[in-house]
Amino acid sequence: MGLHLFDTMSRQVRDVKTVEPGHVRIYTCGPTVYAFSHIGNFRTFVFEDVLRRWLDRRFDRVTHVMNLTDVDDKIICNATANGHSLDEEVKPWIDAFFNDRDILGIRPAHHYPRATEYIAQMLDIIGRLDERGLTYRADSSVYFRVGAFPKYGRLSGLHTEGLAAGASGRVDADEYDKDDVRDFALWKSVAPGEIGWDTPLGRGRPGWHIECSAMSMSLLGENIDIHCGGVDNIFPHHENEIAQSEGATGSTFVRLWCHAAHLRIGGEKMAKSLGNFSTVHDIVQSGQARPSALRYLLAAGAHYRKSLNYSDDALHMATEAVDRWVAFRDRVAEHHPAVIAPPDAKRVLERADAAFQRAMDDDLNLPEALGAVFQAVRTLNQLLDGNLVSDSVLGDIRSFIRDVDDVLGVLPLVDKERETPLDVEDARLLDERIAARASCDWAASDQLRNQLAKRGIVVDDTPQGQRWHRG
Ligand code: AMP
Ligand code: ZN
Repeated sequence: MGLHLFDTMSRQVRDVKTVEPGHVRIYTCGPTVYAFSHIGNFRTFVFEDVLRRWLDRRFDRVTHVMNLTDVDDKIICNATANGHSLDEEVKPWIDAFFNDRDILGIRPAHHYPRATEYIAQMLDIIGRLDERGLTYRADSSVYFRVGAFPKYGRLSGLHTEGLAAGASGRVDADEYDKDDVRDFALWKSVAPGEIGWDTPLGRGRPGWHIECSAMSMSLLGENIDIHCGGVDNIFPHHENEIAQSEGATGSTFVRLWCHAAHLRIGGEKMAKSLGNFSTVHDIVQSGQARPSALRYLLAAGAHYRKSLNYSDDALHMATEAVDRWVAFRDRVAEHHPAVIAPPDAKRVLERADAAFQRAMDDDLNLPEALGAVFQAVRTLNQLLDGNLVSDSVLGDIRSFIRDVDDVLGVLPLVDKERETPLDVEDARLLDERIAARASCDWAASDQLRNQLAKRGIVVDDTPQGQRWHRG
């Protein structure tokens, strides 16, 4: 059947057909590196990881690019306030992102371009847009003229006239001089002394959207197979990327657009601006969840196009599912085969494998795929209880587990958790230190830091609270 995905542009589930046979080129919008990404961001990144893993299975070759947005208003504001260069400002947040990525077992992209490394390519696109009459200058900034691009609005289906800010909630407060409210900045002028680049367009910095057009087309070509993000990226970000890229090249920018629905908490979208977010660190350190359970919840708690509610109950169910899966893996690893066994297990396995693949190919329905897997696990457990599984079938079960977990990705996380459990005493000292700081008892907090250091645990205090790592 081959992989089918829901395409936001055509609003249909479509066959994934690549420009180059057997080679799929995918671009996923990455984090803005001004703070820790929250687990809402990671819902999208984990969905993209599941997609990436399934593409690795279905295609001979995958090239995956995820950008890092390392210049925007907040980053500039923080860098200026902290007396940092942009580079100094973003470095810890890029490290934190890669660290969280690894904690959740996300397969690294092939390229992580940073926006600031692609200024020349952005200027090139702006030049091409200019030649086609799609730009204008106002107050030294350069804007895209949406009225001159008739295909604008096809992705989001929005009648954008009258909209001042996008669904993402990003308001460009510095874009005063637009002819039309839908127009957006390609290049924003900055005052001398402010962070920016000296270019033929004047001293300035790029608009957010042009960054992704430049990075994606530079690394993947002008016709990309799949482009992903969270649903809040549809408008204005992806709509504007299409306008810029197709405006410059005259050909289709992306063949298939995929968007993940939001992670919600208490019924509301998890968002930095709402203050209702948690980070991977918070959750793992406080012992609320193990990385394997968090990954399971984000990957399989709901189909990626349905919003997912984050709650203690949801985490609990994910933890139980991981435990069942690991117990099955361990049991199969240790099981002694029966000398003679009926062929039932083989049939159960074949059916489960077919159902798993069918559900994954059908718009990446991991929850349904795992439903088939766990149904098979129940039956196989009964056959193992009765010692009715032969040596060759045990081998088949092991490769089935490997194939499923190649997508689910929790077993390596569980193995890592087993290697380095946080000892009870360490956890107690860390909690005591959180309490000491909450009651402004700095002497106790310092003393606990020293005690932890002696035990090989290094503690840092960040704006998001206490963090630790092994020294
Ligand atoms: P940002 O760092 O704000 O550029 O966001 C990075 C990615 O996270 C984008 O693809 C967003 O669409 C996505 N995102 C933001 N909030 C959520 C959420 N609550 N649930 C799922 N994805 C989100
Ligand atoms: Zn983007």
